[in-house]
Amino acid sequence: MENISQKRVHEDNDKAASAEEKSIIRTDRYLTYDVLRIIFKYLNGVELSNASMVCRSWLEVANDEKRTARGSILYFLQDMRSAEYFKTQIVQKLLIKPTLGLFFATPWRVSGKKDCHCKVLPANCDVITIRTHGVIINDRELKNGLTDVVCTFLPDIPNVTIKTITFVGVVRSQTVAQYVQQMETVFNTSESNSHKCLLLFCNGRGRGLAKAVAAVLKQNNKKPSVWGGVVRDLRICNSKDARHNRCAQSATCIGVTLVGLVDSWSVVIDRCYRTKKAVEERLKSFRNHVSLRKHSMGFMFACHERGERMFCEDNVESTIFKSLFPEVPLVGCFGDGEFGKTTIPNEEEEIWYNEISTVFLIVTYG
Ligand SMILES: [Zn+2]
Repeated sequence: MENISQKRVHEDNDKAASAEEKSIIRTDRYLTYDVLRIIFKYLNGVELSNASMVCRSWLEVANDEKRTARGSILYFLQDMRSAEYFKTQIVQKLLIKPTLGLFFATPWRVSGKKDCHCKVLPANCDVITIRTHGVIINDRELKNGLTDVVCTFLPDIPNVTIKTITFVGVVRSQTVAQYVQQMETVFNTSESNSHKCLLLFCNGRGRGLAKAVAAVLKQNNKKPSVWGGVVRDLRICNSKDARHNRCAQSATCIGVTLVGLVDSWSVVIDRCYRTKKAVEERLKSFRNHVSLRKHSMGFMFACHERGERMFCEDNVESTIFKSLFPEVPLVGCFGDGEFGKTTIPNEEEEIWYNEISTVFLIVTYG
């Protein structure tokens, strides 16, 4: 009896094993590359990232899906209310897996750590929150909204390294040297032929520090695009780094570097460009040097002295940009000092810092 029951157990195990094998064979046979691509189209960014960890062939399909079918999206919320609201309205619908969130809000908008939007984003997504004089979304420049929030997300792009380097606390000469060196190491150690893009933000106290960073990086980098500026309040949520598990922490300066298979161009419209016609000509010349890939994102940082104050009309520069690049979503804000570099050939700025200017950046990939 014992032998028979043992035999049955073996037979049952064999049956189970062969059923399992069959199912594996079926999976291999029917879940071809094309079928997986169709299925993966329906996954949101985080689900796609999870699927990429199943096996090597799923990883390949997931990477191709990321490369060819997905771009980033801009969101405009008149009242974000709570993290849960943000989750249902945005995070669950994100087609990309976000690696960096950029939030632009008016300075009157206050959100606490308890209900911070970073809580509902993936754990390794850094979040920069910029409170400033006004926000920009596509061809609208909104300076007076009390609760406006505009956000966008940089996706996890294959072969592109995105790093966020933050300076918190009081600016002292020793810590400045350390921070500048850290930025230099991240920006300069990559292969010389990789494309580089720098986003640089600081609050009023960090202006000197950010200018020092810009001056040092300028020495060894001839071709990067540069965009950013001085804002009223800067916050970082940075859960990626276990040593610095920050949420809504006030930051003095934040540098973001994009290095790898991503193209980007930036242009400074300085204080000399004060009419619609002059801005239009400058941007037309910029457009001639830009070649867009599958997915593109546009960024605008303008001095609060520009906009309606300079042109006696709303939405001038954003509207010109959108008329020249209708397919590029535009996001940004007004600040008080701008970082930028013009990437039009034969036009080198002396410094990467300007005042009473507007800086545009286009990032394109895929
Ligand atoms: Zn947070």
